[in-house]
Amino acid sequence: MQRLQGQVALVTGASSGIGSGVALSMAQAGAKVVVNYASSPKGAEAVVDEVKEQGGDAIAIQADVSQEDQVLNLFAKTYEAFGTLDVLVNNAGLQKDQPFTEMTLDAWNKVISVNLTGQFLCAREAAKEFIRRGVVPEKSCSAGKIICMSSVHEVIPWAGHCNYAASKGGVMLLMKSMAQELAPHKIRVNSIGPGAIKTPINKDAWDTPEAEESLLNLIPYNRVGEPTDIGKAAVWLASDESEYVHGITLFVDGGMTLYPGFATGG
Ligand code: NAD
Repeated sequence: MQRLQGQVALVTGASSGIGSGVALSMAQAGAKVVVNYASSPKGAEAVVDEVKEQGGDAIAIQADVSQEDQVLNLFAKTYEAFGTLDVLVNNAGLQKDQPFTEMTLDAWNKVISVNLTGQFLCAREAAKEFIRRGVVPEKSCSAGKIICMSSVHEVIPWAGHCNYAASKGGVMLLMKSMAQELAPHKIRVNSIGPGAIKTPINKDAWDTPEAEESLLNLIPYNRVGEPTDIGKAAVWLASDESEYVHGITLFVDGGMTLYPGFATGG
């Protein structure tokens, strides 16, 4: 039996980058997948097609995760299509980088509302369904799993990106507080903290050999990550193999959080 056989996984912001990789990995592990996208269906439909080509089941559903009514609609449509939910991957996120003294309130609010409020809204709806349904032993020993896509920037400060770093720091304590509160219901809550992964969000940092060379200075393992690196970690966190793992951030970063500058100094 595949690790997520018979389970339903909802991945937000899954029409590109890490979200697409996670959606494909979840489907390969046997889950039916809801591919959420913000506005343009093209990328999401390509992910759905790929899942179906591989013999899996998936649908694309539009919703801006920062809008409560759209999130409620996303969950209603998920239950209409697949009956219930077993795994939420809170992946949708964005950057609006500005020097601190020039940062507009709009840039601050946009990043916080998608990266932090969006995770709150989706996790709240998922938790309600997990509590309502409870554990189904044939599927999993947990009543449900919530995986928050955080970042190494939940612990590494990031000049020029104060809104983004604050949102991910917020995700860390949101995740831990939810983990504490929801554990009695057998709901597992964890985060993944990616390092540098090749996706559209950070294209400038890796799309020329010079940029990639410079980025590698921050990665002791000397390789920029790929979405499948995160997909594999997400499947493990969603599966019963990690049943006793709860309230942690799993950094998947090639060692970026190891203070690489100290390898030759300090
Ligand atoms: P990406 O830009 O490819 O993916 C982000 C996705 O979120 C996009 O599909 C986008 O359409 C979607 N999105 C944005 N606003 C949304 C909204 N309001 N509602 C629904 N969806 C929305 O970039 P990515 O690198 O794949 O990012 C995915 C997650 O991983 C983000 O939370 C990001 O902060 C995190 N992350 C990425 C890296 C990296 O190196 N790529 C590192 C650390 C953390």
